[in-house]
Amino acid sequence: MPRYEFRCRTCDDTFEVDRPMARSGEPADCPEGHADTVKLLSAVAVGGTAAGAAPAPSGGGGGGGCCGGGCCG
Ligand SMILES: [Zn+2]
Repeated sequence: MPRYEFRCRTCDDTFEVDRPMARSGEPADCPEGHADTVKLLSAVAVGGTAAGAAPAPSGGGGGGGCCGGGCCG
């Protein structure tokens, strides 16, 4: 489960929250109960390979697509 880092603007402290990625945009209360928090950039998702140009898998395309089933004509 991804971990997100928040900072409380009331007590100026940072804390981490483990939550599903689908709920990443939801606000989180700080451990002290303050609701005025901001989400920081995730520190765990970045890193590793710097170049983002991964070779695309060859082949693909079509294979049960629309034009093969006669629904395009
Ligand atoms: Zn707080």
